[in-house]
Amino acid sequence: NNRVKISQLLTWEPAQQEVTVMGWVRTFRNNQFIALNDGSTNTNLQVVVELGKFDEALLKRITTSAALKIRGVVIPSLGKGQKLEVKADSIEILGDSDPEKYPLQPKKHSLEFLRDIAHLRFRTNTFASVFRIRHSLAFAVHKFFHERGFLYLHTPIVTASDAEGAGEMFRVTTLPFDNPPRNEDGSINFKEDFFGRSTNLTVSGQLEGELGATALGEIYTFGPTFRAENSNTTRHLAEFWMIEPEMAFCDLEDNMNLAEAFIKYIIRYAMEHNKEDIEFLASRLAEEEKQLPADKRSEMGLVEKLEFVVNNDFERITYTEAIDILLQSTPYKKKKFQYEVKWGVDMQSEHERYLVEKHFKKPVIVTNYPKEFKAFYMRLNDDNKTVAAMDILAPGIGEIVGGSQREERLSVLEARMKEMNIPAEELWWYLDTRRFGTVPHAGFGLGFERMVQFVTGMGNIRDVIAFPRAPKTAEF
Ligand code: ATP
Ligand code: MG
Ligand code: MG
Ligand code: MG
Repeated sequence: NNRVKISQLLTWEPAQQEVTVMGWVRTFRNNQFIALNDGSTNTNLQVVVELGKFDEALLKRITTSAALKIRGVVIPSLGKGQKLEVKADSIEILGDSDPEKYPLQPKKHSLEFLRDIAHLRFRTNTFASVFRIRHSLAFAVHKFFHERGFLYLHTPIVTASDAEGAGEMFRVTTLPFDNPPRNEDGSINFKEDFFGRSTNLTVSGQLEGELGATALGEIYTFGPTFRAENSNTTRHLAEFWMIEPEMAFCDLEDNMNLAEAFIKYIIRYAMEHNKEDIEFLASRLAEEEKQLPADKRSEMGLVEKLEFVVNNDFERITYTEAIDILLQSTPYKKKKFQYEVKWGVDMQSEHERYLVEKHFKKPVIVTNYPKEFKAFYMRLNDDNKTVAAMDILAPGIGEIVGGSQREERLSVLEARMKEMNIPAEELWWYLDTRRFGTVPHAGFGLGFERMVQFVTGMGNIRDVIAFPRAPKTAEF
């Protein structure tokens, strides 16, 4: 079948040409004009049905969401807003749709409503745009690293390590539910989980990534990541995708430079390849903002914001400087922060967003956090108090990247693990990289959905992943 996609067709020069198009009906006006959509673009193709040419019985089946195969001739359009249309020679119904029962009517639905019919979200312009942009961003991720000679390493989904030490793991088990092996005190012996080993779904591919980097040079992983967070925020999922590059012979500065270049690169790629979709979402967002009181509206539209971000340097400050700014900030004096600002305590998203949205008005990279609340593998600074960590904070979202230079000195690493009660025996394979030719190395993790949120302007992380996994989400 020489089917032409609507996105391709719309850029053709209107010549007398026979085409076959297939898609779903969005509307059918006056028994004459079909607006057909095939998912390749939000612009519907107008199909003209000549009066009297087709059976009444067939025309009755052209209902919203019915699937059609149409052969016809491309002609210049007389209607406004479109260059060309297709005059139908034959219409075949591929799949009927009962208009009484179809949940999506040609009216605006709330995102919450659509979240409950995740299987049909794709049929809306908003979600079609989001998922085309998501696709482009994913492709750009691979393109960026491939161009720089990074190796795509597949780190495991089932693993025994809790890289973050945050205890947010989903357990993977082969234990019988009715009669699991027990410890002497009666508790279940989870050490037996995976045919004799304790296992969970990965919370980060980093530790395995470090093994790759300290032999292969520069690697990245890009895959699903699982965290058993029972949080109902707009930026946490239980299953999300993470991009984690890891580089040998690399320090914190190189790491920040790479992360900044990477973020700009993938945004630029989407801006070039998804112009129509980004503009569509931008206008949708602008409409929504009109409902807000003037002081709640963003200063920049979505397109302006993305342009600004790719064309300007990110701000770089230390954690200590960040705390000073927050302590001096007006909202803090007026006690407008819900959580206390204090050196030694992790920033909350309200603090991060203040720095980015109110103070600097651009993405900010915060470095050198206190070691107390950062992971064991981050390189200890000479002050013995802070570690060579960096978080990237983005407007509207907060943390999108967490990264660090890794501790390459065996004795320092072992001391840190002891301090934090991390059993060295279980991580013998990790420590071996420090025993046999250890090198300075660094890496970061970018939450892919948060990046998609940033580029699409979607407020809730559940609306940028096809099948969100979070507390109280759909059943499949
Ligand atoms: P947060 O402070 O937002 O909970 P984190 O510090 O726990 O994030 P990291 O362990 O640093 O997260 O993970 C690296 C990146 O992965 C984060 O910067 C973020 O972009 C993303 N990320 C972390 N947890 C989630 C989640 N539950 N859902 C979606 N993305 C996440
Ligand atoms: Mg977290
Ligand atoms: Mg964090
Ligand atoms: Mg983090």
